[in-house]
Amino acid sequence: MRILKDQQSFVPARIFCIGKNYDEHIKELGGETPAEPVVFMKPVSSIVSPGETVVLPRHGRLLHHEVEVALLIGQEGQDIPESNALSFIAAVTLGLDLTLRDVQARLKKSGLPWELSKSFEQSAPLGEFKVYDPKTIDLKNLSFTCRVNGELRQQGNTKDMLFPITSLIHNLSQWWVLQPGDIIFTGTPAGVGPLVAGDRVEIESSQVGSFSWNLAQHS
Ligand code: ZN
Repeated sequence: MRILKDQQSFVPARIFCIGKNYDEHIKELGGETPAEPVVFMKPVSSIVSPGETVVLPRHGRLLHHEVEVALLIGQEGQDIPESNALSFIAAVTLGLDLTLRDVQARLKKSGLPWELSKSFEQSAPLGEFKVYDPKTIDLKNLSFTCRVNGELRQQGNTKDMLFPITSLIHNLSQWWVLQPGDIIFTGTPAGVGPLVAGDRVEIESSQVGSFSWNLAQHS
């Protein structure tokens, strides 16, 4: 992955994903409000660049879109205070936390880890990163949308997060030593729904950009 800021480029290190970070989304899935951020991970090999075709996974029947603001960490950090957290962000984009909802429901019921439902091949379509400049990107008030075949499905704003971005970076940096190239998916707002073969999914934010993918049937 190449983003240019002071001639820096980054190799994706890890993808941290935050679950249950918007109230209305927790309600639509019938979950409980967490006391601390819910964290899971996707492999960096699951990243799909804008414009590439996403092939439906074979081991589930209900693939859901989850549009999320994604952050790129630019420097190493541990125990980062909230007051200084934004300075660790090199760039911002949007991504899709693709989720096999039927598989996830089964795993949750059995108390099993979520990987099969969240961390499969091509589960992390990711837009192009835009260098983070607080003057042009307001992470406390960033609105974004997800459209499927032109129809508005999700509309969110970072101001509605349960754990704001500064708090996510603070918490994650207490549990891991954050590294340059780490990517953070910050959770999805309400309106998650199914994707089928032939769909075109488009995620957009006026401050960050617009990115789209087409869905195809597996062979
Ligand atoms: Zn998500």
